[in-house]
Amino acid sequence: MEKKGILIIGAGGVSTVATTKCAMNIDTFEKITLASRTVSKCITMAKKIKESVGVDIDTASIDADNVPDLIELINTINPKVVLNVALPYQDLTIMDACSATNTHYIDTANYEHPDEAKFEYKEQWARNDDFEKENLTALLGSGFDPGVTGVFVKYIQENYLDSIEYIDIMDCNAGDHGYPFATNFNPEINLREVSSNGRYWEEGKWIETKPLEIRVDHDYPEIGIKPSYLLYHEELESLCKNIKGVKRIRFFMTFGDSYIQHMNCLENVGMLGIKPVMHKGVEITPIEFLATLLPDPASLGPRTHGKTNIGCICEGFKDGVRKKFYIYNICDHQECYKETGAQAVSYTTGVPAMIGTKLVYNGTWDLKGARNVEEFSSKPFMDELMSQGLPWKVIEL
Ligand code: NDP
Repeated sequence: MEKKGILIIGAGGVSTVATTKCAMNIDTFEKITLASRTVSKCITMAKKIKESVGVDIDTASIDADNVPDLIELINTINPKVVLNVALPYQDLTIMDACSATNTHYIDTANYEHPDEAKFEYKEQWARNDDFEKENLTALLGSGFDPGVTGVFVKYIQENYLDSIEYIDIMDCNAGDHGYPFATNFNPEINLREVSSNGRYWEEGKWIETKPLEIRVDHDYPEIGIKPSYLLYHEELESLCKNIKGVKRIRFFMTFGDSYIQHMNCLENVGMLGIKPVMHKGVEITPIEFLATLLPDPASLGPRTHGKTNIGCICEGFKDGVRKKFYIYNICDHQECYKETGAQAVSYTTGVPAMIGTKLVYNGTWDLKGARNVEEFSSKPFMDELMSQGLPWKVIEL
């Protein structure tokens, strides 16, 4: 039987946007099924999308940690692609189920083991042959960062510079949700990322820093000057491999004083711990308990005001002359909320997740194996960004 339609796994903030946008592109996707651990969330989302976009979405329950269950679900639905917008912990199981069922795979974040705050592509890239031999694509990291940032760099390489020496990825969220402390996407994943050591790539090796040790004050177009801190981010690992000749790649993200004070305090008292502790005879993992207490990122939509600006500054040579270009997107939290019911951090991830899935689905991006976005031609993705709600701009610095 011909494979048809898309299966989306995960029903959180990013999924809200990705599923809505897939419904808005139903001409491409033909049929949509949404599955998650808590099926009631899928049913609620499907109902809202039916009301707002007028498209029917099937729902299912799945524990995506379980490969046999995933295989059974995929065989029942028989989709052409699976979009994984659950958590990074599920990347490998969903990849394995996809390669076993002859199904393309897309995700937005690289694999992380629940017991170790470390993320890397190694185990996903190791599955390259499983996909290649089945003539399948596994598109890794098709969110904003990673995702659009890799496509931006590729676009500059293809259109503005003959060689790129320096890349700085600048991620600013100037949104205000009114809470003293909340995270804009899954709290556990977010806090593990920010509280880890920083790292950047220079002259062929990794330089490690203490968490938030390096700060620059950067002027973000349409936002202004914001303190930005060097973090390790997963696209650095694929870009230093795929952008030949690059000498340095760094990633900076803005954080307000309140966020940093809360995070330091929570770390100092052990609330960011990922190892279980005993509490009154019950085993609890501090960071999981903290995630239960914090506002659900999906609930921030109505109360978040302000803008995001995420982009890349690329410096290199064009016709022998040194040049520097800044390519970025600006998103308004309230406009995202009006369109999809989610704030800009979910929006900037969910839209590119849909776009990457669309390009794989319709065969425009057809490289086989486990691939990162910058390995493909940038133009179709850049065109889709313009028409699907994430317009971008290039300026020369
Ligand atoms: P949420 O926590 O809001 O949603 C995660 C969803 O996954 C929930 O619906 C949850 O289950 C479901 N889920 C978790 N475990 C399982 C499981 N074992 N089986 C089935 N479903 C499961 O997360 P976000 O929407 O904020 O983030 C989604 C992904 O997007 C993450 O991987 C995150 O790292 C990534 N991301 C990427 C960004 C980028 O720019 N590249 C930026 C931001 C996020 P349940 O149904 O029980 O609620």
